[in-house]
Amino acid sequence: MLVAGNWKMFKGPEEARAFCRGLRDLALPGDVDVVVCPPYVSLGQAVQVLAGTEIGVFAQNCHWAVDGAFTGEVSASMLLELGVYGTIVGHSERRQLFGDTDETVARRAAAALAAGLHVIACVGETEAVLRRQLSVLDHDDNLVVAYEPVWAIGTGKTATPELAQEAHEVVKSVLDVPVLYGGSVKPGNARELLAQAAVDGALVGGASLELEAFEAICQAGSLS
Ligand code: PEP
Repeated sequence: MLVAGNWKMFKGPEEARAFCRGLRDLALPGDVDVVVCPPYVSLGQAVQVLAGTEIGVFAQNCHWAVDGAFTGEVSASMLLELGVYGTIVGHSERRQLFGDTDETVARRAAAALAAGLHVIACVGETEAVLRRQLSVLDHDDNLVVAYEPVWAIGTGKTATPELAQEAHEVVKSVLDVPVLYGGSVKPGNARELLAQAAVDGALVGGASLELEAFEAICQAGSLS
């Protein structure tokens, strides 16, 4: 069971440090892998504060080149140097607002995995889109897919546990990797979503910004 908090463009270094100190001091369940995904500028603080704990620090994106003339991008080797453990790729906000395509997502995922990072690759609706987005990804022991119906991200609307289960079965039939559900996961709905057999964890946006809510979601993943 994996619960990952995607902070998006929230929490600069100061706030990240305070949040991670709070997280570090919680008694999180031992059977849930917990990950935070701060913005680039806060990764260093998160890595420092969480060093020596089981809590992983992931970036929110990663470029495929090692280095080069790619203004605004960050490479896998730079993230590794910082002590970052993995990265999200292909979040729907990257696809919708910043021009990421199936091809660039595949390149980002492949480069990150090859460099030794763990990867959460995001895919979304509909079944045809899901299959197309998955078709460019290859199985890897360090790859996890996050199924995030676009209508459920940041909207307060959540897929029913049955719908999530069905979509996750589709994902797993194409690519046999752990699948996280993402889309308005909150303390109040986490337990029934995470109880589905094909739901291997959650990618949490808004509710991961608040320590108490994020802790409650991590607890809901325990024994699921
Ligand atoms: C996300 O950012 O991946 C996400 C699922 O956001 P939220 O939980 O806010 O819907």
